[in-house]
Amino acid sequence: MRTSEEIIIIGAGAAGLIAARELSAHHSVTVLEARDTIGGRIQTVYRDGVKSAETGAEFVHGELPITLGLLKEAGLSYYHIYGKMFQVRDGKWDARYEMIEDWDGLLEKMSSIPTDMTMQAFLDELYPGERYASLHESVKSFVQGYDLADMTKVSVKALYSEWTNESENNFRIDQGYTAMVRYLEDVSLRQQARIITNAVVRNIDWSAGSVTVTTEAGTTYTGNRVIIAVPLGILQQGTIHFSPALPDQMAAAHNIGWGTVIKTVLAFKAPFWEKQAPQVGFVLGKAPIPTWWTQLPDKANVLTGWLGGPPAIPHLHKTDEALLEMALQSLAILCNENIDTLKGLLTDSHISNWASDPHVTGSYSYSTPATAAAQVVLNTPVQQTIYFAGEALYNGASPGTVEAALSTGKAVAERILQGIKN
Ligand SMILES: Cc1cc2nc3c(=O)[nH]c(=O)nc-3n(C[C@H](O)[C@H](O)[C@H](O)COP(=O)(O)OP(=O)(O)OC[C@H]3O[C@@H](n4cnc5c(N)ncnc54)[C@H](O)[C@@H]3O)c2cc1C
Repeated sequence: MRTSEEIIIIGAGAAGLIAARELSAHHSVTVLEARDTIGGRIQTVYRDGVKSAETGAEFVHGELPITLGLLKEAGLSYYHIYGKMFQVRDGKWDARYEMIEDWDGLLEKMSSIPTDMTMQAFLDELYPGERYASLHESVKSFVQGYDLADMTKVSVKALYSEWTNESENNFRIDQGYTAMVRYLEDVSLRQQARIITNAVVRNIDWSAGSVTVTTEAGTTYTGNRVIIAVPLGILQQGTIHFSPALPDQMAAAHNIGWGTVIKTVLAFKAPFWEKQAPQVGFVLGKAPIPTWWTQLPDKANVLTGWLGGPPAIPHLHKTDEALLEMALQSLAILCNENIDTLKGLLTDSHISNWASDPHVTGSYSYSTPATAAAQVVLNTPVQQTIYFAGEALYNGASPGTVEAALSTGKAVAERILQGIKN
């Protein structure tokens, strides 16, 4: 049964769109999205209707129930990825790759700390001195590259939970991640939701049960409740003004870590990396962009480069041309090739620098020792009127993922539906 409740959702990423899908079956829903397209940090590029690159989210990291459930519902297919992992040392490709030496010993120590601390403090305390320098270095590379986190801020307990819940099974979606959010958009539209793009929200005036949302262009939208499903970086910047102000929630946003990444997807005429080794999945080594992966089992001649965490920061202001040059230079180093040869083989490129997108400002969140408490604040509705959702508010086993975003959007929608019913 439809009621007269008017719900406004800010942000048409995975979190905002799943909330729209759930709520628009029962209530009047308006989604306001700042960019000219939906999907947020999910952006598949299509060439002639065929998936050409995932410039944002790419993998489904494990058998994740909401994501896989949605894919099934939408009739979308996905496939298991595989490939060997190589480390390049002095120009040699080595498949006997160990990300972190004495991994089990490290995990055991991480599990036994009585109170949470940052990873840097943990290493300094439990692995002091020069003899652990190489362990410090490899942990730092992993934390920066995978979690996009700052060693001096990231929580040991959160890393332990994430690292021990990691799935061996990763998948890609045949039709691209965007097909999944398009499905949520389609269902919401069929249920009469309004989805408005190019609507940058700047002000939210509210009292219990009433909100007036104003965009940069001066258009106002009124409703009974608002869900704020924007990236954490937007909350941290404070570019959406609340009246009355929400100081506790804004302070809480600063207690969650916000990472950064530069992702480069390059297509070539020929798979030159196969000269180094067969079945290449991932390659890591010392280069300006240190991490690369292929599309296996898909045979596309595509390599994706990943520069994450604090090492990406000095490069965020660079032009796409400069970043492409840096990417090719990195591949020349890692694959023992001449950069001009690689330039001759290059057929297409997508450089995505999400930190420079003013409506995203970063990549995905990570936990600091203060994050669990901050998430409690942000996950508590303000007078049954203001709700927050989005990847950064998730406290389960798959942080920083699309699953995390979907989980929070769904939870907020359920909370609102339950609250209205009672
Ligand atoms: C490069 C990269 C690779 C990734 N790889 C993976 C992966 O392989 N697997 C995985 O599971 N996850 C991955 N992630 C993370 C995943 O993309 C995110 O966790 C998820 O998409 C976040 O969804 P969200 O709805 O919380 O936020 P978003 O998708 O960021 O959506 C928020 C929306 O709010 C809008 N907005 C911002 N400000 C305003 C405003 N003032 N008014 C109106 N709208 C506004 C934004 O434009 C955006 O569309 C990756 C992320 C990045 C950046």
